[in-house]
Amino acid sequence: CGIVGYIGEKEAAPILVEGLKKLEYRGYDSAGVAVFKDGEISIRKRKGRLAILDEEVTKNPAKGNIGIGHTRWATHGAPSDINSHPHCNNDCSVTIVHNGIIENYMDLKEDLVAKGYRFLSETDTEVIAHLIDDLYKTDLLTAVQEAAKLLKGSYALGVMSTKDPGKIIAVRKDSPLVVGLGERENFIASDIPAILSHTRRVYLLDDNEIAILTADDVKVLDKYGEEAGKQVFKVDWDA
Ligand code: GLU
Repeated sequence: CGIVGYIGEKEAAPILVEGLKKLEYRGYDSAGVAVFKDGEISIRKRKGRLAILDEEVTKNPAKGNIGIGHTRWATHGAPSDINSHPHCNNDCSVTIVHNGIIENYMDLKEDLVAKGYRFLSETDTEVIAHLIDDLYKTDLLTAVQEAAKLLKGSYALGVMSTKDPGKIIAVRKDSPLVVGLGERENFIASDIPAILSHTRRVYLLDDNEIAILTADDVKVLDKYGEEAGKQVFKVDWDA
């Protein structure tokens, strides 16, 4: 339902939780964050209100300057801690948040199970994490591009990998996603209010565009892998 991502010099978790709070009005049944540091991804996710996640992150901090967060409105799999996003592959080298519905997840899941992938949740989303892992050869961008070609349905995705540190990949189809441009920090969000306290300069991603974020750069490619030539959109309203 809601997505926020951060890459920069600050602690990511508080920025993610604050951003998710700005998306609360959309409704949700669970929430979570994944934060990256020193080759490891820490995930905190809970069924229920954001206050529960907030408490968990305060008790048991997830440290790091890169992260993705999610509020879930369950479509496949009941609301539960395990079905909450972020989801990861079996060695948790690939972590994702997803808004939308993967219509062909059953077929994809069958293939992945046959290859030995173990599924922990009942979500449609989890197939994406295993699929990216399965397609991972040289770098995260290529793996996500290849995975996107196999997905049917709607998605806004934020992806991180320990195998390709220092970046967030974001891609969308039929589900909104924006990139926020900051000073030595960048953001993704499913809706502008989530990041409006940090920046007013955004790229509005179009369907099948994919963004590669590092702390000091953002590239957006079209579905052919060519530079999309995005214009910066300046937000002149307040949330
Ligand atoms: N279909 C996914 C799920 O049920 C994502 C739902 C959402 O957009 O929050 O977990």
